[in-house]
Amino acid sequence: WPFRLIGRPLITAIKLCNWLGHSGSGSTLLGYIGIDTIIEQMRKKTMKAGFDFNIMIVGHSGLGKSTLVNTLFKSQVSRWSSGWGGEHKIPKTVEIKAVSHVIEEGGVKMKLTVIDTPGFGDQINNENCWDPISKYINEQYEKFLKEEVNIARKKRIPDTRVHCCLYFISPTGHSLRQLDIEFMKHLSRVVNIIPVIAKSDTMTPDEKNEFKHRVRKELETHGIEYYPQNEFDDDMEDKNENDKIREAMPFAVVGSDKEFQVNGKRVLGRKTAWGVVEVENPNHCEFALLRDFLIRSHLQDLKEVTHNIHYETYRARRLNDNGGLHPISANNTQESNL
Ligand code: GDP
Ligand code: MG
Repeated sequence: WPFRLIGRPLITAIKLCNWLGHSGSGSTLLGYIGIDTIIEQMRKKTMKAGFDFNIMIVGHSGLGKSTLVNTLFKSQVSRWSSGWGGEHKIPKTVEIKAVSHVIEEGGVKMKLTVIDTPGFGDQINNENCWDPISKYINEQYEKFLKEEVNIARKKRIPDTRVHCCLYFISPTGHSLRQLDIEFMKHLSRVVNIIPVIAKSDTMTPDEKNEFKHRVRKELETHGIEYYPQNEFDDDMEDKNENDKIREAMPFAVVGSDKEFQVNGKRVLGRKTAWGVVEVENPNHCEFALLRDFLIRSHLQDLKEVTHNIHYETYRARRLNDNGGLHPISANNTQESNL
């Protein structure tokens, strides 16, 4: 009987080897398994599900925020786009408005939403003027959380969480305003902040570089962690790539929704005393750099940091407040005061 015990599996194994050996070219037990097809499987699933990507824009009136949104949609991004819809209004001192475009390229669908926040910091008393913005951000976390803790939860939860917040800095050439510092300090703990220098065509290249340098120094002095945050670099490769980006920040952008004829091509630009500043020309300003950073290189990471760090922090606090025991009711209309 010892043979029966050892023999059966042995025979089965030999049979299996033979079968593998005869099936397909060169397949052995240690041969091709097909793990690399996981990437293709993931790609297919992701393509079907589509993406949500939500950018928020903050800064005081007149800094060119709405123009930059239009620029974003009029530039390469929206040459793929088709149609738009959706609007979100909060009747408060700050009116927050979300505009969505569904963009499709190479079979991949992305719903790009830009949340514009007009009027930030325009009041005489700007104390706590970031409250409506932080409320909006937290409301989106709350919405997601409610969907997540639902017993019959959706297969795919619609994601309205703010994946990044572009903070517009006035091109004064001097320094950051107290309000800039306060805002970024408060909000960098709840959302990915990306500071940008607005209307950079109003500065000379030297002024611009000096200002960028000064802003970086000030952010460092005040301990403001903007995206991509040092502490979330995954490995050396990540760190090297992100170091380069951090050294180039804040991006000095120019927005425009007007087209000009340059060398026989129609380009988005602004007419200045020196000629036409081409918005999408990396030699003229850093709009294209910002756009590529947001969409081509860091979109997935922005979403991951939002989910794994910012949302996780919110979720942990919220469930803790709840005693960590009872799920939040889906019909619970009470708002979080976090
Ligand atoms: P918002 O209040 O921040 O939304 O600013 P708007 O987008 O409404 O722009 C305010 C004004 O600034 C408009 O007259 C724009 O044409 C102008 N503007 C927008 N972007 C730029 C820019 O990059 N450079 C310059 N020089 N002017 C700009
Ligand atoms: Mg505006």
